[in-house]
Amino acid sequence: MIADGARRHFAAAFGGEPTLVASAAGRVNLIGEHVDYSGGEALPIAIQRRTAVAVRLRSGAKVTRINSGGTGGVLTIDHARLARRGKWTDYPSGVLDQLVGAGIEVPGLEVAVASDIPSGSGLSSSAALEVAFGFAVRSVLQVPLDAVLLALECQRAERQFVGVPCGAMDQLTAACGRRGHALHLQFGPIQVRAVPFAEQVLVVDTAVPRGLRTSAYTERVQECAVALAAVRQLAPDMPHLAAAMLEQIDRAEMPDVSRLRARHVIAECQRVRDAAAALSAGERFPGHLALASHQSLRDDYECSSRELDWVVEFAMRTPGIAGARLTGAGWGGCAVVFGDAGALAALEEALPGAYAKAIGHRPRAWLVTADDGARLE
Ligand code: ADP
Ligand code: MG
Repeated sequence: MIADGARRHFAAAFGGEPTLVASAAGRVNLIGEHVDYSGGEALPIAIQRRTAVAVRLRSGAKVTRINSGGTGGVLTIDHARLARRGKWTDYPSGVLDQLVGAGIEVPGLEVAVASDIPSGSGLSSSAALEVAFGFAVRSVLQVPLDAVLLALECQRAERQFVGVPCGAMDQLTAACGRRGHALHLQFGPIQVRAVPFAEQVLVVDTAVPRGLRTSAYTERVQECAVALAAVRQLAPDMPHLAAAMLEQIDRAEMPDVSRLRARHVIAECQRVRDAAAALSAGERFPGHLALASHQSLRDDYECSSRELDWVVEFAMRTPGIAGARLTGAGWGGCAVVFGDAGALAALEEALPGAYAKAIGHRPRAWLVTADDGARLE
């Protein structure tokens, strides 16, 4: 178990036992992509891949001594001089910055991290690290926080400190996930509702290096901001882009590219509501909505890739597969596939070899089900 890994790294780095271990989950989004920062809706699940954080208070200087994965030595974060360093410690530093900003006295800490979430693949290892760290530190300081507020605190850490203009989906799922359920999330204002989801899904990581993902993401955020500003010329009180009607998007004066992005946002939110309604009624996940989502992300949001399109097309040729789509930000990263358990197992078997032949390198694939979010171990 990953919590045991954190305890082992802790003993190796600091000696003895941590006071407590907390963990948070990676996630895949079933549907509702690139809508969180536009005030839309999404339907993610927390998965069995997790990040665990072991923590113990230490006397003396107000610094956090921290190790991740048992390698790379012990790094020091000075609470009085929190600054972005361009390293992984920016994520815990950002959370410490939030705690200090909330007026919480943070004494010296010893921290060890262990994770089996592949980082940079779109399963949201960054949010799992923030939420597990925030939950562990708040627990050891006995200043607990409701899971939704903890997630929003971690989102602010990533936005303000790390400098990624992310929405709240990743942190909300890492914190609030529930076994056997998907989370119907609404982002403006925040609402979290669990809906039953007992299916397996197949996650395929295209294993494509990051490239331009971060800059392209920031560009999409800006294109949506332009669309919202244009809609507000017609409707000054529009709270966010996802609240607009298609007809307002069509009527407002904006660059073609912003109109395409906005059309995706509006249509995608409707698909999320339809999928959540189906799950609430005890139905299986509607595969056709996943396919429609992929097409919209490919054509209107322009965030797919040759590899993601290949995975979706290959999956759809397998009998018993109901639907497939890119998940996460896109431009590489992961796809998610829906269907009968037997069909998913057959695809898990057949896809890697065929992908390697067509694309030139091997992908990774995991069968996952919905799991719990943040918890004490
Ligand atoms: P994603 O969240 O999709 O995995 P990001 O680029 O947002 O990708 O976050 C990945 C980064 O988060 C890593 O490069 C690293 O800096 C940090 N990170 C995530 N998990 C860990 C971990 N267990 N230990 C150290 N750093 C981590
Ligand atoms: Mg991330």
